[in-house]
Formats: sequence, C-alpha cells, structure tokens
Amino acid sequence: MGMGAKSSTRVFGRLLLLAALLPSLAAAQGVEDLSDEALARAGIRRLESERLTLYTDLPSIPAVDQLPALFDQAYPQWCQYFRVPEEQVPPWHATACLMRAPERFKATGLLPPEVPAFQHGYTLGDHFWLNEQPSDYYRRHLLLHEGAHAFMFTRLGTCGPTWYMEGIAELLATHRLADDRLELKYFPRDRDEVPYWGRIKLIEDANAAGEDLRLERLLPTSPRELTDRLGYAWAWGAAAFLDGHPRARDRFRQAAKLVRAPDFNRRLESLLDDDWAQLSAEFGLFLHDIEYGYDFARTQLDWQPGKRLPAAGKKVTIQADRGWQNTGVALEKGKTYELRAAGRYVVHQDPQVWWCEPGGVTLRYYRGRPLGELLAVVVPAAKAAAKSPPWGDAIPVGLGGALTPAQAGTLFLKVNDSPAELAENQGELQVEIKSASAAAPTSAGARAN
Ligand SMILES: [Zn+2]
Repeated sequence: MGMGAKSSTRVFGRLLLLAALLPSLAAAQGVEDLSDEALARAGIRRLESERLTLYTDLPSIPAVDQLPALFDQAYPQWCQYFRVPEEQVPPWHATACLMRAPERFKATGLLPPEVPAFQHGYTLGDHFWLNEQPSDYYRRHLLLHEGAHAFMFTRLGTCGPTWYMEGIAELLATHRLADDRLELKYFPRDRDEVPYWGRIKLIEDANAAGEDLRLERLLPTSPRELTDRLGYAWAWGAAAFLDGHPRARDRFRQAAKLVRAPDFNRRLESLLDDDWAQLSAEFGLFLHDIEYGYDFARTQLDWQPGKRLPAAGKKVTIQADRGWQNTGVALEKGKTYELRAAGRYVVHQDPQVWWCEPGGVTLRYYRGRPLGELLAVVVPAAKAAAKSPPWGDAIPVGLGGALTPAQAGTLFLKVNDSPAELAENQGELQVEIKSASAAAPTSAGARAN
C-alpha cells in the first residue's frame, strides 16, 4: 500500500525519486519482453488483459486467472469516479507482479532493487507489486488498492495528501463480486463478504481503546503515521463517510480535482464550508456506531439548534426507521426534565414482524440495551460535538423518566437499533417533554447523564 510518492508537501522529493527509478523501470520494461520459456523457467506466468499485464508465480486457479479481466472492469469505474475520459493515446495500461516468492521476481528483474521492502503492496507510476494474500477477497482488494494508486498517479498526476491517497484507494478497492461483475466502492453488508479486510473491527477496537479518530487529526497525518493497519481503516472510514453522507458526497467527489493543490485539505474544508463542523461531529457518530451495512441516509443529523422548552412542554414524534432525531428542544445543564413515550412500531421484520413499544423488546439486545428501546442524547453545537463527542452518553428513556443533562444542548431521540437495520423498521412513537417542576416525576427509567 506504500507508494513512491507519499505526501503532497514533498512534490520535489517525489519527482526526484521517480526520476531516479525511471532507468530501472525501463529495465523492467525490457524484462517484460522475456520469452514465455524464460518466464516458465523462473516459475512465473504472464496474464494479459486490455488494461493489465500481470506476472505471477501463483498456480492457475480461477480466482487468480480472472484478476486481469476484473482489473478491466475496474478501469471504467475509476474513470467515472475521477471524471476523466476512458480513451487515451496510447491506451492506459498497468503492469503488476503478484508474488508468492519475491526472489523469483528479483532474479528476473521484474522486481527492481530500487523498490523498497514493503509489507502488502507498492506502486510506482503504472507499475505495482503485491504480495500474495490469505483470501481471494483480500488479494483482489490489494490489486484494486494499488491499481487505484497507479490510476491516480498516472491519470491525475498525483494522489493528494496521505489520508486521501490511502482513503480513496481503500474506498475504491472495497468491492463486491457477484456473477463475475465487479462493483467498486461497496460498503460491506456482512463480514463474510470481505474475509481478511477487517477495517470495521479495527475501528471498533480503536474506539474501545479510546483512540482519538477525529477528522482534524487524520487530515494532517504523515505517511509514517498512517502506515499501520488502523491507519488504512481510519482513512477508509473517512473516505467512506464523506463519500456516503448525503450532504457531503457531491462536494467530496469534487475534491478529486484538487489532488495537485498543495493546500488540498484547506480547500476540501472550504468546499464543505459551513457543514465542516457538523460533518466532523457526524464522522464521530459514524465511527462510534459503525456496523457492516451502515445506513448513511437514515443516520444523518439535523443540526438546527433547539429552542427553549415552552412552559406547557412539547410533544414530538420519533420515527422508528431513523437514527438520532432532533426534538427541537434545547435542554439546560443541571435542570431536570420529564419524558413520557408511547407508541407501537416495528423493529424487526425477518423472518417475523416484531412489534415494540418504547420500553423495547427483551427478545433481542443491541449494544447492551433492549432492541427498540427509546434512547436520548443531549448534543451541544456541532463544533463542541466534534471536539467532545456526546454519542457514548446515550441515556435509556424507555417509557419515560427524569433526565438531568450534564451539559446544555439539543435533545435528540431514537429507538435502539443497529444503524444497518433501520430500513426494516416501521412506525413512530410520541414523546412528551416537560420541565420536571411542571410534571409529577415517575419512578420509571431514565438516569441523568
Ligand atoms: Zn496504498
């Protein structure tokens, strides 16, 4: 996943490095004229397609032999993503080595000595090298990851800052293959679809370890800081979020045009403009709640600041098929409020419809609470929410109870469910919010946060 050129702030170093390697790349080109017999003696096969020449010492199995054809399917998808024409003179073509025993490739000159040691893969211009991987999925993933680097490097001229270079390569490499049809930029719905990918698990582990994964920390990371496995998961998460979020998507895709700008990050922030703080806070929510099949549309937040609670209280309707919903009510720090909820809604459909009330169903728990239980969180303004994410402080409300916020903010409510399974929910619930002095407290449920 490394590359000859790593940081947008080191343009000159990159050009010098590339220039220094050109003679040996030319030598490698010469080696590519090796006869089939010479390759066979070295235990290497050559597989050709329109867009890829692949040298490999792996035995002929369908999952390996189909790689060049899949690479050909990736090419138009890259062109579409980066909005560049498919046609080019001469036609765009890459050369790759997929290696079980790198010494074979060294001996034939296919792996020149100037290519530094690497763990998974390495790209230089339109050449890249990959080590064999433990699953068919992850071998394809790595080929597509390095292929995306090669594409960006040759068709866009460079790859942008480290987080963007790796994040976009990961975004475009994460794929689904169904009936020999390759779909790039796929958000996996299930762990079994992506053996050895592991990005979501790495983010969950980092959450549990209390790592600070804010966008503000990711954007300036150097190659050295990003090259561990969490770094790739983090960069993938950012690209998947910005590309998946309905409010960010179009402007994030425009950023591909900015890869040559030395102030790429600043220009991306100004593209996202007033939404930057909100998106940054919602990225924190995405990482906190991350699941296979995360539903970006149903989890996006309305950041309209709440208004003071009217003396008579307020009734709000909460949809069962959405994530956190803004009640429009601003709560004051240390003041006690009374919530009462009622309604009947569906929280599960397959194989059987599960009806539920705000107390939730105890047949199934999600993240330690009953599925469908009403939850509350008090959200400060976006800038503060991005800096100190409130998402871990969700308060179980259930059928009702008292709530005393530890910080001021807008009250958000939702029913407890996976952000991957909201689409199957149906129905709504009514919640009454009152100042505790105007309502008789009940003994039921909610704690202060
Ligand atoms: Zn990479």
